[in-house]
Amino acid sequence: MASVNTTIQLIRPGGQVTSCSPALKEAPWNFDSAPVAEYGPGSSMFDVAPVDTPRQGEIPAEYRRASDEELDRRIRAAKATLGDRLVILGHFYQRDEVITYADFVGDSFQLAQAARARPDAEAIVFCGVHFMAETADLLSGPSQSVILPNLAAGCSMADMADIDSVTECWEQLEELYGTEPDASGRVPVIPVTYMNSSAALKGFCGEHGGIVCTSSNAATVLEWAFERGQRVLFFPDQHLGRNTAKAMGVPLERMPMWNPRKPLGGNDAEAIQDARVILWHGFCSVHKRFTVAQIDRARAEHPGVRVIVHPECPMPVVDAADEAGSTDYIKKAIERAPAGSTFAIGTEINMVQRLAAEHPEHTIFCLDPVVCPCSTMYRIHPGYLAWVLEAFIAGEIVNQISVVDSVALPARVALERMLAAKP
Ligand code: SF4
Repeated sequence: MASVNTTIQLIRPGGQVTSCSPALKEAPWNFDSAPVAEYGPGSSMFDVAPVDTPRQGEIPAEYRRASDEELDRRIRAAKATLGDRLVILGHFYQRDEVITYADFVGDSFQLAQAARARPDAEAIVFCGVHFMAETADLLSGPSQSVILPNLAAGCSMADMADIDSVTECWEQLEELYGTEPDASGRVPVIPVTYMNSSAALKGFCGEHGGIVCTSSNAATVLEWAFERGQRVLFFPDQHLGRNTAKAMGVPLERMPMWNPRKPLGGNDAEAIQDARVILWHGFCSVHKRFTVAQIDRARAEHPGVRVIVHPECPMPVVDAADEAGSTDYIKKAIERAPAGSTFAIGTEINMVQRLAAEHPEHTIFCLDPVVCPCSTMYRIHPGYLAWVLEAFIAGEIVNQISVVDSVALPARVALERMLAAKP
């Protein structure tokens, strides 16, 4: 099966396969020099990158002009020269043209743990997005450098909650709830951040009695939080928060949404007082593309199909699917299924196509017929990888991601709480 990148290059107007943006055919460096920061082709038109989002300067022309074959030869030669001095991590949603060089492939937390398991490596090259590289820096050794090949590889969901607006929200909640615990010792509210958030927000949770969660352990983490707090403030992904809390029996009317641009998040004081989980107004542009209509169509065209979606999908999609689970859950479900199974998957297309190629014994397809990769993962290209590797050989660390100690210390506290909470 062709990679997503190859498929996009082959898409013809009027053809059977369509992509969400014709600009995906262009090299990512064409977008690095845009006058204002942007998430790149394929991102939702409603996602506006923050003005202070990291920008990527122009990389040398030799990398932009090199053919695929030359980049392949140079990357392999650089890896051979560097040996164990450097480890390359690739996220499940990364394009195959980059994944082929990864020493480990996984979700953001698995990759951060992989980085931790290689304390001998001088550098960790993270072929994912910015918050993932930050987490790797939090969990790696003090003498290790974490490198993000393209600084413009951010995450629109992570950017939807910033430290200033979360702090402002927290102050409003404190004013309403006070800070005193109830008779059973539970504080008024516990902050919970999804792994897909900046280190600053993980640090905020560490400082305010809160915790981090992943899509694999969100229910365990919410249980941890409910034992210690009367309510939870969950950010940045409303869908993961809602889907998880609903499955735990929290009524929807006790899950108000917090819009940071409105006083009290756009709620009246009574709704906030009665809340069990306050959901931040954030979402993933990739997972919000999945719809119930796509599920209905998959069932009509493939009787007996097993529909599995990621919990970042909207609640009606999760409710209509057979199962919802993290990337790791989806991967394991496919591995354990009897040969001849048919799966319709609601997660990022690079991962779905790779699973389909790895499991020819099954029929596996993406629920969304439109080819639309995560636009920020897509900003990583072999040209950037060759550039950072050859710079490292020359003694220069480019694009280092380093979390300052004042943020890293409390962020690690929130991560350690998550590790301790997990079953
Ligand atoms: S898939 Fe969604 S949450 Fe993941 S990096 Fe891309 S935009 Fe962010």
